[in-house]
Amino acid sequence: MSKVMIVTGGSRGIGAATARLAATRGYQVAVNYVSNREAADQVVNEITAAGGRALAVQADMAVEADIVALFETVDRELGPVDVLVNNAGIVDQVARVDEMSFERVDRMMRVNVTGPFMCAREAIKRMSTRHGGKGGAIVNISSAAAHRGGSSEYVDYAASKGAIDTFTEGLAKELAGEGIRVNGVRPGVINTEIHASGGRPDKPEQSSKSIPMGRAGNAIEIASGILWLASDEASFTTGARLDIDGGV
Ligand code: NAP
Repeated sequence: MSKVMIVTGGSRGIGAATARLAATRGYQVAVNYVSNREAADQVVNEITAAGGRALAVQADMAVEADIVALFETVDRELGPVDVLVNNAGIVDQVARVDEMSFERVDRMMRVNVTGPFMCAREAIKRMSTRHGGKGGAIVNISSAAAHRGGSSEYVDYAASKGAIDTFTEGLAKELAGEGIRVNGVRPGVINTEIHASGGRPDKPEQSSKSIPMGRAGNAIEIASGILWLASDEASFTTGARLDIDGGV
């Protein structure tokens, strides 16, 4: 039986590249999305056209009931999850902290932090040997912003990713004896639509000068790292934060 991977935010960007690459490595993939059904269907159709198995599942990472339903749907349609990729994430418009509303920061933390916690909870119930599972892997997508701070741009986003780094550290230790490895990936600036969603479509190009390798990265370069951490090749790796950022 092939392994089952859930990719949150698998409809676009890094998540879509991860879903496609996972399918070529033999995973059955649940492609989660929040609102762009068309993009999720496109990823699923590409995978199935190539002979793989994939399923698009709508769930808002800010809504607990959606997350619980996501895992139940995957149980029913593909089988219990073996790998969780906590990838879905948002940025917001450029702002200083003294300009940020409660609602903005609350939403940032719900989608980028609370959602991944709840997904991990649901995955642990299915994977942990403590609960009768057969083990598995969790890969949390953080950001280089976690150590750079995001000042005068989006400190809320950077802080949410700092929380994800600590989450990875603690959860890895908590689950190390239960057959679950937990690791993180910290991408630098990557060519995806997230920058346009924050009002800065030209960020990858503008950032190139400050990246030692002189360019922004591509989603597939992050997907490769995620798939390695998920695989048995990384069997002694847990609690790691893999920087894939062109040298920043
Ligand atoms: P993206 O291109 O904007 O794609 C975001 C994905 O997340 C989409 O599939 C979107 O679904 C989904 N999503 C957004 N809000 C969601 C919610 N509330 N519930 C469920 N899914 C939701 O983003 P990306 O650049 O690939 O980023 C992916 C991850 O990498 C994020 O965690 C981001 O913080 C991190 N990252 C990105 C960069 C970069 O430069 N791109 C750098 C460092 C870290 P819909 O298609 O339905 O909208």
